[in-house]
Amino acid sequence: MSDQIPKPKKPRGVARLLDGKCIACGARCQSSCPVNCIEMADTGEPIVATTKCIGCQKCVKICPAVAIEMYFTPEEQQILAALAASSVPVEDDIDPEAAALAQKLAEYRGVWVFVEQTEGEAAKVSWELLGVGAGLAATLGVELCAVVIGEHVESLCHEAFAYGATKAFLLDAPVFKNYRTEAYVEGCCHLIEAHKPEVILMGATGMGRDLAGAIATRVATGLTADCTGLAIDDKRNLMQTRPAFGGNIMATIMCDKFRPQMSTVRPNVMPMPERREGNSGEIIRDPFTVPEDSVLTKVIEIIRDSHGKAGVDITGAEFIISGGRGMMGPENFALLQELADELDGVVGASRSAVDAGWMPGDRQVGQTGKTVRPKIYIACGISGAIQHLVGMQDSDLVIAINRDSAAPIFEVATYGIVGDLFQVVPALTAKIRELKRVDK
Ligand SMILES: Cc1cc2nc3c(=O)[nH]c(=O)nc-3n(C[C@H](O)[C@H](O)[C@H](O)COP(=O)(O)OP(=O)(O)OC[C@H]3O[C@@H](n4cnc5c(N)ncnc54)[C@H](O)[C@@H]3O)c2cc1C
Ligand code: SF4
Ligand code: SF4
Repeated sequence: MSDQIPKPKKPRGVARLLDGKCIACGARCQSSCPVNCIEMADTGEPIVATTKCIGCQKCVKICPAVAIEMYFTPEEQQILAALAASSVPVEDDIDPEAAALAQKLAEYRGVWVFVEQTEGEAAKVSWELLGVGAGLAATLGVELCAVVIGEHVESLCHEAFAYGATKAFLLDAPVFKNYRTEAYVEGCCHLIEAHKPEVILMGATGMGRDLAGAIATRVATGLTADCTGLAIDDKRNLMQTRPAFGGNIMATIMCDKFRPQMSTVRPNVMPMPERREGNSGEIIRDPFTVPEDSVLTKVIEIIRDSHGKAGVDITGAEFIISGGRGMMGPENFALLQELADELDGVVGASRSAVDAGWMPGDRQVGQTGKTVRPKIYIACGISGAIQHLVGMQDSDLVIAINRDSAAPIFEVATYGIVGDLFQVVPALTAKIRELKRVDK
């Protein structure tokens, strides 16, 4: 066996500012540094933390004024000179930038789900996210954690355990009673800084969208909104799939250089996990709080969506009868309402019907409307554009009524009826009424 002579390593040096050269261009050097070791002085000049510098030379290359050079100690200069004079091959260093990035990413572990609550009642989407989060956590080999913020909300930690979480971070204080962006962002960022999660999932609800965006901005990471699919690649990156370009393609987005990786998912997109009573987990009670004076927003009253005049929440309905442009006018939606009444269901609509003013916006199903997952979805006079399909294609059973046999809606339909809806819908309603009478 021959002895291997180790190849010499080439010194990388550290960045150093040259006196009087900086033109204070706006901190280009600082933004190029992969390890954040440049601070800007009041004069607009950089101050390099040489102990953190990895010698990548990015700041040197980006500086428009050639104001930064690489500095080598006298010993390093000797090594460089010796290397230049010798014919011994130099060991290829691991790319220091890649190594620093890998080290930074490795500090983040765990999949977190934000448990959205209003007056102590959790939003169902939080449990749906625990379902998908469990799969991600298993692939990554990490814990699935719930983040519970509110006042007197410890019971939600136990509910989260029933839906698969094994740990819950709890911030329980009067200031967190009602959702307010400032207080919740402070609370979440405190937890993120302390525990460094790899993945954070939130519901794409009013609250989730508001909070996720504010957190991502504060912790300087990426956020993918309205994901319809989540998976992990072989480098531990979260593959976040969502419709793009008006829903005509599905894009898979990754955030491979920053942590945590943040996604929002709409209600009803992911299936509900099984609830297992008796599951337990660890509750981490954090005394962190925010001074009430520092929160500018005050909540006077909570008005729930479903308490509105129309009072219909299509996302929770088991039977949805939706109408599109084929309904020909607002008055014809009464036909759908009759069928809905027989089934104890609700009436939904395509965007065309909403844009035409035939139905209110809260009934719209699809990419820019609601995502629904009813037991039965009946599409009447709806062509089946992709933007509509993404909002209803995960329904347990889809019945499509359309006079055009080539309409794309039939591609996702369990049962398709090619015909005139003005004949088919009343016939269906009459048949159901007849069957109900026979049952009595
Ligand atoms: C960025 C973006 C976001 C969008 N978001 C949404 C969204 O959230 N939800 C949504 O729905 N759309 C959305 N759209 C619009 C979408 O692309 C379609 O334009 C829309 O879904 C079409 O609605 P429709 O099926 O009712 O109308 P049409 O496409 O006009 O289809 C009407 C259908 O009715 C049938 N028909 C007509 N008369 C009868 C009859 N008597 N009996 C039986 N069948 C009949 C016709 O054969 C036809 O198939 C979005 C588009 C964009 C660009
Ligand atoms: S050489 Fe690289 S690590 Fe060092 S200060 Fe410049 S950009 Fe940052
Ligand atoms: S990039 Fe160069 S000119 Fe710009 S702030 Fe940094 S040192 Fe100064």
